[in-house]
Amino acid sequence: MQYLPVFLDLRTGPVLLVGAGDLARAKLRLLLAAGAHVRFAATDGNDELSDFDTETRSRIEHVSGDPLAVTLDNVIAVLCAGAGETGEAVAARARAKGIPVNVMDDLRHSTFIFPAIVDRGDVVVAVGTGGASPVVARRVRERIEALLPSRIGELASFIGRFRKSIHARIPDFAQRRKFWERIVDGPIGEMVLAGKSHDAEAALHAIADPAAFTTSAGFVTLVGAGPGDPDLLTVKALRALQDADIVFYDDLVSAEVLDRARRDAARVSVGRRIGKPGIGQDAINRLLIEAAQSGKRAVRLKGGDPFVFGRGGEEIAALREAGVAYDVVPGITAGLGAAAESEVPLTFRQKATRITFLTAHKAKDAETVDWSALTDVKMTVVVYMGITAADSIRTGLLAAGRSPQTPVGVFARATRPDAKAVVGTLDELPRLVAQVEKGPAILIIGDVVALSLPWRNSELAQLHSTLLMAAE
Ligand code: SAH
Repeated sequence: MQYLPVFLDLRTGPVLLVGAGDLARAKLRLLLAAGAHVRFAATDGNDELSDFDTETRSRIEHVSGDPLAVTLDNVIAVLCAGAGETGEAVAARARAKGIPVNVMDDLRHSTFIFPAIVDRGDVVVAVGTGGASPVVARRVRERIEALLPSRIGELASFIGRFRKSIHARIPDFAQRRKFWERIVDGPIGEMVLAGKSHDAEAALHAIADPAAFTTSAGFVTLVGAGPGDPDLLTVKALRALQDADIVFYDDLVSAEVLDRARRDAARVSVGRRIGKPGIGQDAINRLLIEAAQSGKRAVRLKGGDPFVFGRGGEEIAALREAGVAYDVVPGITAGLGAAAESEVPLTFRQKATRITFLTAHKAKDAETVDWSALTDVKMTVVVYMGITAADSIRTGLLAAGRSPQTPVGVFARATRPDAKAVVGTLDELPRLVAQVEKGPAILIIGDVVALSLPWRNSELAQLHSTLLMAAE
């Protein structure tokens, strides 16, 4: 973060605006809309103010002559827009006095910059890129515009009107926050957003005991974090993360995904790594139950999908037994993330008509897999936790009769910045696995791997190329 976004109260003193043309006019309108008193040095001599009403005009003080001679007394900020060469000298004057200055399109002489703004009354969103790309900032703003309910500003001012009285009735900060969260997320918030502020106000007054209104029961949401790329989180997952008081996360959850949790949510690692013991499933279950029983909204964040080799089933069984309310938000499982990233169509016309997801954590797990059920050439096999058991997987499949030429892909750290995909044949599997350095990694075994991007880019491109294309 190169610049700190802050909100400046422009009514505390005049702002000096130096410049000319449409650029200066646009800044003038912005400043006036924010309630500023503007000392305006129009370097083109244009003092036309008929666009503005009387009240607004009363906040504009025209100054003529040399803009470098304009008094800076009491000035709280200086802006130059369309001021040409003058901008630099004006900026130097402002800086000498320690007054924040912005010269439009000139980062070098500015001490602050303007963000792209979403303006919904009391709700204002500022988007910045450190001056690197106003176009990117505008695109972000457009997305936020689309996301925000149109009456979000009204909701903020509605709450603003009652803040004081609620503050008096609920002195405890955390409890007060819960109260307002229930208002914002519940029917009263909805009424305001639907334009029914009167009904909302009546409903708010009808709450006899605001302090009791906050004691909502705790809740656990099992959330699929996806394979790593935070953009692969579902909208529901994001909402749960934003609502959480506490997040219990696995080792597989990427830092970028965890970053999407509410800033002041507690974060607790409950992960285990191969070779290192974690805190154990019973202890995790206990933590979830305790968090919910103390009234917290807990998120149990799991790599991929909670119900795909994620022990989600065990956790909800424990929650049910303890009478704790819960919810499950699916995630994109690693196999699907890897397949999409590397363009492996897991099914393909009549040539690949079945998918099996299996796990072979250790060689001894692999020995218990019934490989004879996986020899159908039309079946795509997706193996989780298969790295250490690669040898046994190869042996098992070959012994069961699957061709040594079967295409295989090893997809490590799929959807993450350091993703690596290696492709080859089943016969070569142990060598392929050795090439990916470190996990987590998914194996995909089946003819469809010959359609993948890494395969098409490799010297294997010719091998199997006719295999699936002949599907008609
Ligand atoms: N619930 C998870 C799976 C947990 S088991 C899911 O649905 O994805 C852990 C295994 O998932 C790892 O051993 C690896 O095989 C796979 N895995 C998880 N994230 C991965 C990623 N980004 N790339 C490749 N494999 C991944």
